[in-house]
Amino acid sequence: MTHSARHGPLWAMLSTYYSNNAIMKSINLKEIDKLPGKRLSDKDIFGFNCHSGLSCFNKCCRNLNLFLYPYDVLRLKNSLKISSDRFLDSYVDIVLRPDNFFPDVLLQMSDNSENTCPFLRASGCSVYPDRPDTCRTFPVEQGIFLNPDKNKPELIHFFRPPDFCMGQHEDQELTIKSWAKDQKAVKYNRMTLKWAELKSMFHNDPWDKQGPNGPKGKMAFMAAYNLDQYRDFLFNSSFLKRYKVKSATLKKLKADDLELMKFGFSWIKFFVWGIKTKNMRLR
Ligand code: SF4
Ligand code: SF4
Repeated sequence: MTHSARHGPLWAMLSTYYSNNAIMKSINLKEIDKLPGKRLSDKDIFGFNCHSGLSCFNKCCRNLNLFLYPYDVLRLKNSLKISSDRFLDSYVDIVLRPDNFFPDVLLQMSDNSENTCPFLRASGCSVYPDRPDTCRTFPVEQGIFLNPDKNKPELIHFFRPPDFCMGQHEDQELTIKSWAKDQKAVKYNRMTLKWAELKSMFHNDPWDKQGPNGPKGKMAFMAAYNLDQYRDFLFNSSFLKRYKVKSATLKKLKADDLELMKFGFSWIKFFVWGIKTKNMRLR
């Protein structure tokens, strides 16, 4: 996509669908074939282009259920030059859906007649270089397939432009890979997969009686989504008295938000399920 953004009501529905059934839960082979849209393999070619000359320009950035993943929040809050805490306070709804044991983060749409995305301007997306993964990948939808024959979850893709999206009639030929490269989505896709892997571990309730809103759940949410607060927790609380972290790792964590986020993911696995990591150990 060249200028602005993507997805309308159809996409929103699909996004919700995927979030329920693919990103957050495993799907089996029979279910894959029932999912809407055309499933794309790595080699499949699809035609698509998006530019400001199309009559649908800007029509897709409204009335969305736009789920934000941790890396989306990191990029957006840096783009807006505000703290992650302020971003979460000002721009999102945190929702806990039935049968989920970790909350989801939804971008709040503007309170206007068309419920536009808060970042939409007449000229297009005002956070374009830092737009969320879903916006980059649209109209290709991503899901997570937990293949029982393999240890690692994999991303699966579906081509599903809404009817009003004129980009599907353009003749630029793409593959999943070339589209991700074109949209500078490769790093985003990688982080979405990492997050989805971890999120899928919350299929079962790990919180005992505390629930996801208890103290442990709140800490895990902070490590994933509220990175500035997590950094503060790491360096200005008793964390380093309780955990041994190599000084080279600490140096990286201070300098690099992405490393801090990955460390946070490992820490969640460690403190929720006791899964060991080479990055830290209890003193
Ligand atoms: S972030 Fe940008 S691309 Fe995504 S919905 Fe909002 S305006 Fe559109
Ligand atoms: S071509 Fe599709 S993605 Fe691009 S602006 Fe139009 S509706 Fe949105």
